[in-house]
Amino acid sequence: MDLKGLIRDIPDFPKPGIVFRDITTLLSNADGLRYTIDTLMEKCQAANLSPDYIVGMESRGFLFGVPLAYQLNAGFIPVRKPGKLPAAVHQVEYELEYGTDSLEIHQDALENHHSVLIVDDLMATGGTAKATADLLEKIGCNVLGFAFIIELKGLQGRKKLPNLPIITLVEY
Ligand code: 5GP
Repeated sequence: MDLKGLIRDIPDFPKPGIVFRDITTLLSNADGLRYTIDTLMEKCQAANLSPDYIVGMESRGFLFGVPLAYQLNAGFIPVRKPGKLPAAVHQVEYELEYGTDSLEIHQDALENHHSVLIVDDLMATGGTAKATADLLEKIGCNVLGFAFIIELKGLQGRKKLPNLPIITLVEY
């Protein structure tokens, strides 16, 4: 399956000089969506990753994290931008190119004996995935690895992440 052919390149989004990899065209293709989720599942199984929970980052991590959780017979837990989750949260702050941002997870979503796979649509600098791993480490649960549809190789996001299995389907 030509996944790259289903991912649309949008030049100069969200700012000049950036080529945005748009996964909405992959999501809308029934065969492409099925192939994406099935392949993620097969790669998780091949790597012996059978988490209690998938943790997905707002918002595109939800789109792939939930169907993968369903296939792996795991639960799904959202990590969101500040102020979105209704109950008490744990929070982590992380560095952006300019300034900082933070991510939140419900305090009662996970306990320290749970195992977790972190899922997002794309790894660029790895900052979002690293912040999520830090948040889960604070809770004390067992991060088994990471899964992304797309890896932007040139940004070397892997270097930021702990030494755990990283599943990706497409590289640019
Ligand atoms: P990082 O923290 O690794 O630098 O950036 C990854 C985050 O930014 C992910 O949550 C991802 O959704 C978003 N992101 C950055 N660039 C792109 C892009 O070109 N396409 C898509 N779909 N998401 C992007």
